[in-house]
Amino acid sequence: MLRAVIPVGGHEAYQQQRQKRFTYSPESLINYTAYINRISDITNYHCDYKPWKYQLEPNSSCNLSCQMCAVSTWDSQQRAADLSLTSFRQIIDENPALLELNLCPLGEPLLRGDDFFAMCTYARSKEIWTRTVTNATLLHANDNYKKLAFSNFNEVVISIDSFNKSTYESIRRGSKLSNVLRNIELLHGFYRNSDIPINTKLNAVLITENKDSVDNIIQRAVDIGFSNISITIDAFNWGLDALDGLNVYSSNDDLYFNHLADLWSTRGIDVGFVTTTNKFHGSTSSLEDRCSWPFSAMYIGSDLRYPPCCHVGDPDVFEVNVPSSISTSPLAVWFSDQYSLFRQQHISQLDLPKVCKPCYVNNS
Ligand code: SF4
Repeated sequence: MLRAVIPVGGHEAYQQQRQKRFTYSPESLINYTAYINRISDITNYHCDYKPWKYQLEPNSSCNLSCQMCAVSTWDSQQRAADLSLTSFRQIIDENPALLELNLCPLGEPLLRGDDFFAMCTYARSKEIWTRTVTNATLLHANDNYKKLAFSNFNEVVISIDSFNKSTYESIRRGSKLSNVLRNIELLHGFYRNSDIPINTKLNAVLITENKDSVDNIIQRAVDIGFSNISITIDAFNWGLDALDGLNVYSSNDDLYFNHLADLWSTRGIDVGFVTTTNKFHGSTSSLEDRCSWPFSAMYIGSDLRYPPCCHVGDPDVFEVNVPSSISTSPLAVWFSDQYSLFRQQHISQLDLPKVCKPCYVNNS
């Protein structure tokens, strides 16, 4: 099994944050306990608890058009209107059981402007573990690097897939490697000068062009100040057949990847791997053998539409459809018959949505 990704600050910091949320919102502990109980018995499973993880989009737009991203297939670089700060607060307030928030679109959150930082500050004021993902192209603008540092994210993931200029710029179309490296220097320098612990993680997505450069990616990431690195070893196709050809899952060497993680661990560097392809067997009666998204988490588009997870992300590709008579609030959707059916499809392994099949072994 591949080494899992480690949260920034380590598992201890992650658990400490969770305890703070339990104290701030006791319902979150009751709810999480109910969740653990429900998933332990698949034969009697029913959902009477709230989702405890959200990926919530502040916006649905991007300034790049990366090879492996669904945005590259859109006609424009914006799918829907931005989420308002008022709606954001309502979503957070509606769910006192929320433990984790990934404040990140299928796109670039820094395009959302200052409301993006206000959203993080609001979530963090309630002790919710909060992360985001950025391509770092806009850190220099609008003092974003300072605002990011002061907004108190638990984890800031920065996407760089190669330190070779032509490879990087071929993958991350519209970006310049030299600008991104300068921005990271700006951000890390500001953290150091302000005595703020560095909360960044570098993520690289492996596709055909960069799949052989994992050693170099890790070394260069360490050189520029990252101590936590995640490598996504299979570019999920976002439910789009057109992106299938970029997935290098079958040519990866898990033993070598784990060897690298062990090696860097002895130097105090956390390296972990993300994979989705063939991840679940679905053959036993355990829910641990199935995708956890339908049972614990929701992806909420900036227009309050509901793709199944961050690996699909675009509701125009697939969404858990609820009738227009049902409120589009996350909890109304979570407790809807349609979401219940989506869970049953994962439990029974019958009629799985097409987008979910690549995640399961022998279900394509
Ligand atoms: S099984 Fe479906 S919901 Fe789960 S990660 Fe895969 S595409 Fe997303």
